[in-house]
Amino acid sequence: MSEQQVTCSYTRCNEVAIISLIFKGERFYLCRKHFDEIQNVLYKLAMQEGEVNIEDVLTKTRAGKLKISPKIEIIESKVRRGERSAEKYVVELVKKVKKTTKRRKKRKSKKK
Ligand SMILES: [Zn+2]
Repeated sequence: MSEQQVTCSYTRCNEVAIISLIFKGERFYLCRKHFDEIQNVLYKLAMQEGEVNIEDVLTKTRAGKLKISPKIEIIESKVRRGERSAEKYVVELVKKVKKTTKRRKKRKSKKK
């Protein structure tokens, strides 16, 4: 209906969500803080491994909430900065995340 505020889907978080993402076919919402945290982990893993999937970073808890739990250990010394390919990869992943707050309602009603 109207612009209702959605809370973050991260476990034990009640902040207002700013974005939504699809994880394992389900829609989840994230606040700024958790979105940044997830991005950070994705970025580090991408730098380390050369590629990363969102499934490698997030886990769904029994309560149906999201939790960061990287399946691959992050070794800070292995995280290489400035690798463009990895950076691009993360950008692509983040692009899939759509903003929920600024929803456009420009739907033209078509007549049959
Ligand atoms: Zn949160």
